[in-house]
Formats: sequence, C-alpha cells, structure tokens
Amino acid sequence: MVAATTQGSDHAIAHQIHLLRPQSGSGGDRVPGASCLSWRLGVETNNIIGWITVPEACEGYVGNYMLGKQYRKDSKVVADEAFVYAKSLNLRMDGKDLWIFDIDETSLSNLPYYARHGFGVNPYNATFFNEWVATGKAPALPESLKLYNNILKLGIKIAFITGRPEDQTQVTATNLQNTGFHTWEKLILKGSSYAGKTAVVYKSAQRKKLEKIGFRIVGNIGDQWSDLLGTNGGNRTFKLPDPMYYIS
Ligand SMILES: [Mg+2]
Repeated sequence: MVAATTQGSDHAIAHQIHLLRPQSGSGGDRVPGASCLSWRLGVETNNIIGWITVPEACEGYVGNYMLGKQYRKDSKVVADEAFVYAKSLNLRMDGKDLWIFDIDETSLSNLPYYARHGFGVNPYNATFFNEWVATGKAPALPESLKLYNNILKLGIKIAFITGRPEDQTQVTATNLQNTGFHTWEKLILKGSSYAGKTAVVYKSAQRKKLEKIGFRIVGNIGDQWSDLLGTNGGNRTFKLPDPMYYIS
C-alpha cells in the first residue's frame, strides 16, 4: 500500500521534471524560452539557412554546447553511424571506393579560435581566421579521426575537399598530418576560379571530377549542408554538428 503510493507520487514528479526539462540548455545553463535550443535544431536540420552570426543571446548556450560534452556526443553518434554504414558496404577493393571528408569543423576543429571569438556571435573576420589557420595548430576532431582510421582500414580511400583557399595548402597538409590524418588520395582546396562561387557549386564540381576519373563516392561527411548538397554527393552523407557558422 505504502509502496504503491510512493510509486504514484514518483511518477507525478517525473512527469513534472519532464515538462521542465526543455527550460535547461546544454551544460545546465538556462536558455531564454528554450529559443537557443530550437535555433540550434533549426540550424542543424537546414531549416534555418543563410544566417550570418549566432544570435547574441545564444553565445553562452553555444559555448556550453561546444565546450561541454554534448557536441562531442553528437559528433560521436554521427561518426559511429557512418562507420556502421561503411562496414555494411560491399567494397570492390580496387582502390576506387572513396570517402569525402570536409576539413574545418569536420576533420580539424577551430574551436580554440572560436572560443576566443564569441562562438560565432562575432562576425567572421578573414584576417583573424587566416592568422589562426596559418599557425597550423587546429586539433583533430577526435570522433572524425577515429572514423577516418576505421574507414582506411576497410580499404576505402580518402579525399579532403575544403573551402580553404589554395594558398593554405601547405599549412593545411601539415596540420592534417600532425594531427593523425596521415594519408589521402586527394587534398582539394578552393582555387581562384571558384572565387565568389558557393561551396555547393565548388564542392559539387570537385566531386564530379573525382567520379569522372573513376572514383566511387561511397560516403561524404561534413559540418555544413553545403558539403553534402548539390550533385555527386555520394551514396550516403553524414552531417556533423556546427552551430557556430553557416556556409552556403
Ligand atoms: Mg566545414
């Protein structure tokens, strides 16, 4: 009798807690009206597009998300799903099965930079960002590095396609190698002929070229929808989280 009463009361409390849960954001920080969580969901699902900066009210929320455990957990789910898919493939083992990796916020993390620049609240500053890239000190995103190694072990080749400009080729290659991305078939940076073109146009064209020379794009992973949309996108695409900036 007592047990039944307690159980009923616990159930009522659990229900209340469940209703209250959306009021707290990443890291337990209170989110005004849960709007930052909704905003992030809208961003990740490509419903909110064309945004220039993170809403000012969400700086703390995005900071907590990026530096707390949730960003890494979300990245792990994506990388794990990608590997489950990769293992399921019937590979021909002829050196033509290819997986596309984006670089920034996919293979390498610019979090040390963005943590000092408002987590995407500050408008993009090419001078400051290029200075950071030039240090070559971006760490690997650990979940993606693990996926990269597991994919290589399956016999799938790797191509990096990045919106970084071609004059950053050397520092990018060194940064990749220093962080464990030790081999690739192609490392493609954005040439001047694509200046002013969107990432969707540029990356689609690069993937098309790779397929023209015989590669089969079995998978494609990036933090921006523009890494994955367009043509020749690959047999499956995987979207990593990135609430800090938007690239069309
Ligand atoms: Mg990226």
